[in-house]
Amino acid sequence: MKAAFLDRDGVINEKAPEGEYIARWEEIRFLPDVFSSIAALQQAGFKIIVATNQRGVALGKIRRDDLEEIHRRMREEFSRQGTSLTGIYVCTHDYADRCSCRKPQPGLLTRAAEEHGIELSSSWMIGDAPSDIEAGKRAGCRTARILIAGSENGVGPEADVSSPDLASAVGTILRITHSHV
Ligand SMILES: [Mg+2]
Ligand SMILES: [Zn+2]
Repeated sequence: MKAAFLDRDGVINEKAPEGEYIARWEEIRFLPDVFSSIAALQQAGFKIIVATNQRGVALGKIRRDDLEEIHRRMREEFSRQGTSLTGIYVCTHDYADRCSCRKPQPGLLTRAAEEHGIELSSSWMIGDAPSDIEAGKRAGCRTARILIAGSENGVGPEADVSSPDLASAVGTILRITHSHV
């Protein structure tokens, strides 16, 4: 079984302004074409797994209950749209916790892979930050970077695919995976 691991903020929903946190469901703004892109990945046999760093929890900026509600309602919205999330994996730690799950560490991906029987080498990590790409590479996945025009994304390891939005990233991933069947 293969998976598409998706970062959350900046891939599924708009990210909060620098230094701010998405702390409530009302602040979630889904990005365009998210549901159709995810449906296309699912149709191609990918399980959909969200892997997100939410350091705001460790900082006391996001309440754990609110984070759980955001993710519960996000799952509901995905199923209303005819798709389903296999899992949402969250690192709520701060840097000082030295955990093994905060991306660029691969812990969220490797744990999800164990729990859902995912073959990492046929899976993809899709994210907008260098840490997403690094986590994907360390886990042994192929990687796609979403580079939104005009936003500061930082530099990092080169992704296998680089696209301006999720829809075009998914289009390229599906072309690549089909030609390697
Ligand atoms: Mg992000
Ligand atoms: Zn962690």
